[in-house]
Amino acid sequence: MLSNALLPEIADLAIPKPGGEMAYRCLTCQAFHPITELLYTCPECNGVLLLEDRQFDRLKKTPPEHWQAIFSLRKTLTRPALRGIYTYHEFIGPVIPLEAVVYLGEGHTPIVEASPALQKESGMRFFYKNDGQNPSASFKDRGMASAMSYINHLLREGIIDEVLAVCASTGDTSASAALYASYLYPLVKCAVLLPQGKVTPQQLGQPLGAGAQVFEIPGVFDDCMKVVEALAAQYNVALLNSKNAWRILGQESYSYEIAQDFDWDVANLAVFVPIGNAGNITAVMSGFIKFFETGIIRSLPKIIGVQSHHADPVYRYYLEPDENRRHFEPVTVSPSVAQAAMIGNPVSMPRVIHLAGRYNEMAGKKSVFVVQVTEQQIMDSMLCVNRRGHIACTQGGECHAGMLAALKQGIVTDADVAVLDATAHALKFSGFQEMYYTDSFDADYGVVPKKELVNFPRLVRPGDLEKVPAPGRPLSGKEFTDFVEKTGRDIAKALSLSKKGL
Ligand SMILES: *Cc1c(COP(=O)(O)O)cnc(C)c1O
Ligand SMILES: [Zn+2]
Repeated sequence: MLSNALLPEIADLAIPKPGGEMAYRCLTCQAFHPITELLYTCPECNGVLLLEDRQFDRLKKTPPEHWQAIFSLRKTLTRPALRGIYTYHEFIGPVIPLEAVVYLGEGHTPIVEASPALQKESGMRFFYKNDGQNPSASFKDRGMASAMSYINHLLREGIIDEVLAVCASTGDTSASAALYASYLYPLVKCAVLLPQGKVTPQQLGQPLGAGAQVFEIPGVFDDCMKVVEALAAQYNVALLNSKNAWRILGQESYSYEIAQDFDWDVANLAVFVPIGNAGNITAVMSGFIKFFETGIIRSLPKIIGVQSHHADPVYRYYLEPDENRRHFEPVTVSPSVAQAAMIGNPVSMPRVIHLAGRYNEMAGKKSVFVVQVTEQQIMDSMLCVNRRGHIACTQGGECHAGMLAALKQGIVTDADVAVLDATAHALKFSGFQEMYYTDSFDADYGVVPKKELVNFPRLVRPGDLEKVPAPGRPLSGKEFTDFVEKTGRDIAKALSLSKKGL
């Protein structure tokens, strides 16, 4: 809520000016590296990087209520650069001038309370945050807006003059990268690597439609990722996977929005996210940590990562309760309906280990969890929630299945309020719904349709009707009234309708 009394005090801060001092920080050797170069790994030790604002402490000088008022005020402004993820400019990319921000309508996705019937069936209060309502229909646009705004900034400063953006993808990263690159055409061009047959037709159509060069590679995502890493190491290309730390910064906006959506009170929240390459859970933890450090939120919500039993390396890592004995082991993935998260060797694992440790420490108790669900549970959950007013993709279904698992295990109780990430739009994954309805899953998935969740169209063609209309061949007169009458009659019979007034 924006209090008018604060307006004079925050007026100067409403439109952010470039500031801060950002640097890449290596999670292995702790070295800092300047951001004037696009880096994906530490030049000294090859470790994974995060971006840090070395002047972050300056943000603590602004009182939390002022920050809250600033963010509320920005939501009312019409300035495009502040309408998306850069509402939180100082926390996401303080060095980026607003003129360089690429805004395609990402962020501030709807948070929708689950329908009363669904909450009752599920056993607790919860919301879906519909990140499928981003421009390329997945949360990836948050990180892409950040990475592309930074690239645009370098272009505008003349530090680089042309960019070939590349990524490996389970489908949504390439859709997003191709969209944002095409907006900056011709300065930015895009090439994407996809595991052949392992992205949905909708996801394949997206980079093709945006004019990207699309390469299909045999194998799974992890194989594509290795090829793209080799390309980025040897050639002059901009890597747009979440290995690129700018992606992580943009995705932190998800946490900031949740804080704002709940009026800065996140005490009883449990935030569920599916884990694939682990970029998103990294960003979600990092975002809440930054708002907690600046006092904008006063507690840290629970964060629960969800993985399918067919791609669960992070879950397995945390099965060992003694952190000194934990050991990360990539897994070989099996086919998963949560295909966007079908990853056996997540690039962001070192970030997760680093941030989950820090998060639990700051919360003063274990607050980051990982649960495992089956393919069957993912499909059943997705179909159930979408029959109750939601638009969850398979990964969104995975979150709901994860919530039921966490409830059963006591990780959350009915005193918590869950926020489930519907990471992409249901339509991108409608093929899996179709496979369920037609019972045509490969045996590898291990999914058996439940009759009550299956749905089919029924053809209505009354047997006593001589003529039916066809495109370009309409009926008229008696033939037409006959058609309307008899077709209506058969539908009423199928629906067991009783006639009015009888
Ligand atoms: C990328 C993606 C995920 C997994 O996110 P990571 O950051 O790779 O862990 C989950 N769901 C959807 C729809 C995605 O596109
Ligand atoms: Zn290093």
